[in-house]
Amino acid sequence: MDDNVIRVVGVIGAGTMGAGIAQVCSQVGWEVRLYDALPGGVEAGILRIEEFWSKGIKKGRTDANLVEKWRTNIVSSSLEDAVVRSDLVIEAVPEKIELKNEIFESLDSLAGQDTVLATNTSSLSVKEISKSTQKPERVVGMHFFNPVPLMPLVEIIRHDRISKRTVNIAEYAAERMGKSSIIVNDVPGFATSRLGVVLGNEAIRMLAEGVASASDIDTAMKLGYRHPMGPLELSDLVGLDVRRDILNGLAESFGDDSYRPHTLLNQLVNAGDLGRKTGRGIYEWDNGEKLDRDDLGL
Ligand code: NAD
Repeated sequence: MDDNVIRVVGVIGAGTMGAGIAQVCSQVGWEVRLYDALPGGVEAGILRIEEFWSKGIKKGRTDANLVEKWRTNIVSSSLEDAVVRSDLVIEAVPEKIELKNEIFESLDSLAGQDTVLATNTSSLSVKEISKSTQKPERVVGMHFFNPVPLMPLVEIIRHDRISKRTVNIAEYAAERMGKSSIIVNDVPGFATSRLGVVLGNEAIRMLAEGVASASDIDTAMKLGYRHPMGPLELSDLVGLDVRRDILNGLAESFGDDSYRPHTLLNQLVNAGDLGRKTGRGIYEWDNGEKLDRDDLGL
């Protein structure tokens, strides 16, 4: 594929995922236009990127001159500026179908004819999202994983109205970002989220039932099944609100209440204890690091 097919990338939403996606795109050398609806949202996202780079420099993994170059690739933008001249737009706003539909309607009306519009949804129907546009053939799912700079996979979600060009560009973009991609059909939860959230929800149910402490449940999966991270720690890392929304989405899509979030998960989210990003979830966190003390004490 022609190396100029992507020069400018718009990223919509500068939260956990949007900031990570913007960071990786900037490291490819693309101009990144970052937009967030929340005042200060882009600045907070850029701060997290800076922290990641600073740690990399301190640990000798990243070169300070390179970081200087990458930094200038990211620009804080209005929604319009993030879309109008972009070759690829990646949306990373909260997992709510009404919100994604509203955003895609705007993206479609602002974007140039050839712009590919990608959603980072973890579980929603990409075809459903594409219906809010006039050109569903240019809408694709590009499902990144958290933390984006470190996780090597992108799930590319294909629906029945997508064009070959759109799939090719999504695959090319993932490759340039240093990721391996898999192609998955547009089924709720795709190949990853469906398994991931069910495991996390079951672990929360076990915690609530007092089967074992959170850290022992996590250790069980790490040492017993060679998972690099336990399901509870991973839920905190992803964000308990994100996981709750995915579970509710799966329950609705499949018409199966066994996917519903456990009461404890709902309680934590309602209390604002969303995991690493709020400093408290199933575990307590300080500056992104899990504190070495036990969980909820259940
Ligand atoms: P987040 O809550 O950390 O970030 C969402 C950002 O979107 C916030 O900064 C918010 O201010 C912004 N936002 C809200 N409404 C907006 C609007 N109308 N326009 C622009 N910005 C708006 O959420 P996240 O964890 O980054 O998740 C974003 C998406 O990525 C979701 O679809 C989620 O399912 C998916 N995802 C999340 C993870 C994860 O581990 N957190 C992994 C893969 C995919």
